[in-house]
Amino acid sequence: MVLKSTRKDIYFDDLEERPVNARHIYLERKLRASISHAYKYAPAAKEMMDKARVKPRDIHSMKSLVRLPIIRRNDLVERQKAQPPYGGFLAIKPEVVERVFIAPGPFYLPPHSAKIEWFARALWAAGFRKSDIVINAFDYNHGTEGMLAHEGLRQCGATVIPAGENNPEAQLPVIRDLKVNGFVGRPSMMMSLITKAEEMGLDFRNSFNLERAWFTSEMLLPEDRKKLEENYGIDTRQAYTVPEAGGAITYECPQKAGFHMSDDYVVEIVDPATGNQLKPGEVGEIVVTPIDNKVWGLIRFGTGAMASYTTERCICGRTAHRLIFKTL
Ligand SMILES: [Zn+2]
Repeated sequence: MVLKSTRKDIYFDDLEERPVNARHIYLERKLRASISHAYKYAPAAKEMMDKARVKPRDIHSMKSLVRLPIIRRNDLVERQKAQPPYGGFLAIKPEVVERVFIAPGPFYLPPHSAKIEWFARALWAAGFRKSDIVINAFDYNHGTEGMLAHEGLRQCGATVIPAGENNPEAQLPVIRDLKVNGFVGRPSMMMSLITKAEEMGLDFRNSFNLERAWFTSEMLLPEDRKKLEENYGIDTRQAYTVPEAGGAITYECPQKAGFHMSDDYVVEIVDPATGNQLKPGEVGEIVVTPIDNKVWGLIRFGTGAMASYTTERCICGRTAHRLIFKTL
C-alpha cells in the first residue's frame, strides 16, 4: 500500500484534516455499509439486531446506534465458547482468514491485513518514518500489539526489530549496536530498559540513540513521561488500542492534549448504565464500532474504559474529536 501523505507528510492521509462535517458524513456512510455487511454475513450481529427489533436501515446515523445493545468482552468470550471458534462474528469465509490472534479467555480474533493501517495511522502521528530503526518490545505471541505494531511501522517505512516483551538486558546491546532510534512497547518495558542500563553503569541518554517512543496497552504515567522527555530526550506518544476491535481507535498527536479518534471507527462515549450517548465533557464508557470492516461483524463494543471527549479544534490540524482520559 502506498501512503497518501499530505501537507509535508504531517498527516497519514487527507482524512485527518478534512472538515468536521465532511468527516461526520464519511463516518456515517461507512457505518451504514458496515452495519449492512455485518447483518448479512455475521450471524451474531444479525441475531443481536433481530433481538433488538432493528433492521440495518434503522441504523442510519451515529445517534441511531443507541438502538443496539452494547456487547462486552465477556459476551464475546461466551459466544465463542458456545459457537466456536468465532462466536458468529466472522463475516468472511473461514478459509480466507489470514491470521488468528489468541487473547486471554481464550478469545480468537482474526484481523485482516487490509486493516493493518489501524495501527499505522497512530504510529505515523508519533513521527515514525522511513530511516527510523525501531525496536518492537510488544509480545508477538500472546497479543495483537506485536504484529500490528510491526506491520504499522513497516507501512510508515521504518525498519523493525521484533524483540518481544521481556529480557531488557538482552535488548540493550541490540539498541546500541543497531543504532535504534525508536521504541514501541509498554511504558513499563521502556522504564525497565532504562533501569537495567543504569544498573549496568551505562549512560542511557548519551550511550544510546533513542529519540521517540510509542506506547499502548498501559497508560503512560505523567511522571514517567516527564522523566523520559526531560531526562532522556525521548519524545513520547500514546495510543488507546482495543484488541477486540482490531486496532488503535484513538491516538496522540504532537500536542499530547488528548487522543484523536481514528477515522476507521465510530467512537461513542456512553452512560454505562443506559447505553445513552453523552455530550462533550461528560465522562462515560468508550464504546467502539469498527467501520469499513469486512472481516469482523462487531458492533458497539463496550471497552469498559472511561473517558470524555472534546470537540475543540486541535492546533496540530487534525480535525477528529479527541478523547480525554481521566488520568490525564
Ligand atoms: Zn492534535
